[in-house]
Amino acid sequence: VKKKLIAGNWKMNGSLAANEALVQALRAEIGAPGCDVAVCVPAPYLAQVQALVTGCPIALGAQDLSAHAQGAYTGEQSAGMLKDFGVRYAIVGHSERRQYHGESDEAVAAKTGAALAAGITPIVCVGETLAQREAGQTEEVVRRQLAAVIHSNGHCISEIVVAYEPVWAIGTGKTASPEQAQAVHAVLRAQLAHASAEAAARVRILYGGSMNAGNAQALLAQPDIDGGLIGGAALKAPDFLQIISAAR
Ligand code: 13P
Repeated sequence: VKKKLIAGNWKMNGSLAANEALVQALRAEIGAPGCDVAVCVPAPYLAQVQALVTGCPIALGAQDLSAHAQGAYTGEQSAGMLKDFGVRYAIVGHSERRQYHGESDEAVAAKTGAALAAGITPIVCVGETLAQREAGQTEEVVRRQLAAVIHSNGHCISEIVVAYEPVWAIGTGKTASPEQAQAVHAVLRAQLAHASAEAAARVRILYGGSMNAGNAQALLAQPDIDGGLIGGAALKAPDFLQIISAAR
């Protein structure tokens, strides 16, 4: 059985004071969690949160990274820079990046490669919009998104984490039902198995989209749900801690 991963995606939230209060509250109660835990923080706070999580079982994550190693790419951060701050995970291809920054499947695949090359675990997000779900295209969309990543990173595909985040469930309070999520996770698992048996066995497939203290347990009980990528509920220590406890 894979160890589950509970990763918080703080998105563009926080401040020096709020981050410190949040991480201190997590540290005080986290104990020895039965799963892996990470917080993916805004880039300006990497150094701060790196120091705050030192010596506790919370890994540091970033929310994006550049596909390039260095050079004239104003506003971007390379995998090497993230490594300098002890970053272990980087979210790539979040739907907010795909929607607001026009990230293509190929761009997401390239960022995945940049993370892997630096020894950072990419958390590759896939997910359909409401219109796509209603048009019966869910499977086709998530398969296309994951295929691009497998196609250009096939040799080390078992090192990635996948997050299924239905766009209609993000920040809406509408969660996919455990059965709806499991159905898509099973599709993704089968696609990984087609790439390699090792990938199917090792890759953790997280669910994301309005996961909270109340619904986490039922989602995490599904056979192919190996953790969660948590937005809003990761900003409240008691809620995030309850989700962590549900992931044993
Ligand atoms: P919410 O948990 O706020 O719906 O966000 C999910 C998400 O997008 C995590 O990456």
